[in-house]
Amino acid sequence: MTDKKKNVRAIGLCSGGLDSILAGLVLKEQGIDVTWICFETPFFPADKARKASEMTGIPLIVREITDTYLEMLTDPPCGYGKHMNPCRDCHALMFRLAGQVMIEEGFHFLFSGEVAGQRPLSQNKQAMRYVEKRSGFDGKVLRPLSARVLPETEMETEGLVDRERLLAIQGRSRKEQMALAEAYGITEYPSPAGGCLLTDQKYSDRLRDLFGNGKAYASSDLHLLKQGRHLRLATGEKVIIGRTQGDNRWIIKYHDPARHLLIDLKAKGSPTVLVDVDATEETVQLGASLCAGYAKVPVGEVVEAVVKGETGQRVIAVASVDPAAYRECII
Ligand code: SF4
Repeated sequence: MTDKKKNVRAIGLCSGGLDSILAGLVLKEQGIDVTWICFETPFFPADKARKASEMTGIPLIVREITDTYLEMLTDPPCGYGKHMNPCRDCHALMFRLAGQVMIEEGFHFLFSGEVAGQRPLSQNKQAMRYVEKRSGFDGKVLRPLSARVLPETEMETEGLVDRERLLAIQGRSRKEQMALAEAYGITEYPSPAGGCLLTDQKYSDRLRDLFGNGKAYASSDLHLLKQGRHLRLATGEKVIIGRTQGDNRWIIKYHDPARHLLIDLKAKGSPTVLVDVDATEETVQLGASLCAGYAKVPVGEVVEAVVKGETGQRVIAVASVDPAAYRECII
């Protein structure tokens, strides 16, 4: 290791997946001072990156970026993938934000665990060029796992990184990464798929509905989309109904008393139902009737339901309805 190398500092995107772990370790092995950065939103948490950091000892910076992310997500220049995942623009944004930290904190370059040709849309050479250019840090991004099948970067030319000790992995096979993991003694790592809700069909349908509805929303709404039954009524109003006790707890945790009302039955255990605070009285009553229906109160039987809001609660009497009659409203 040269003295010059000892002072080289790199900051890399880390999802906590195997590729990002390996990219960090490959650089660390060269004597480069490596730090990871992970961005958090309601769509993807930082837990796996935290685990990877604990396991490898590579320090991790976590930044919450929901507001900035939503600006991109509502209109990504390259569009979406199969669902609501704007992978190219997501990567570009992450490199842009990581690049700002690079400058502020005096790192020399950026890196990631991207592998050329691994994902048809987001990790081919053309997409990687797009991401780098759009990030505003063209020339400052190293992909240690695929570097030797990609054009030489200025970091390699200038000798900050030893190109010979970088890898030439490409394509969709994971064999080389798995062999490398074994060589580094890494036995636990998350599977490559999963972890981002924007690639999940159900979540994407609900998110598209939320965006399409045109009503203001907050970060808590993005969490609410993750659990329960979601109904968009013909009136355009929304009703969320817990399916399990876990869902009920989730709805209670993420409801916003200033924007939502919670409904449950007075006399018996029931799903927790959420409607907007400005819902019409008909929608509040329908929410309560569906609450009774899902609680298996016989159709037509009248029950008392409690409607709770920020300013207090009231009791209403409603007749139970058959949830099957509203199946088409389920998102
Ligand atoms: S899968 Fe999700 S987190 Fe990963 S690049 Fe695509 S949109 Fe971003």
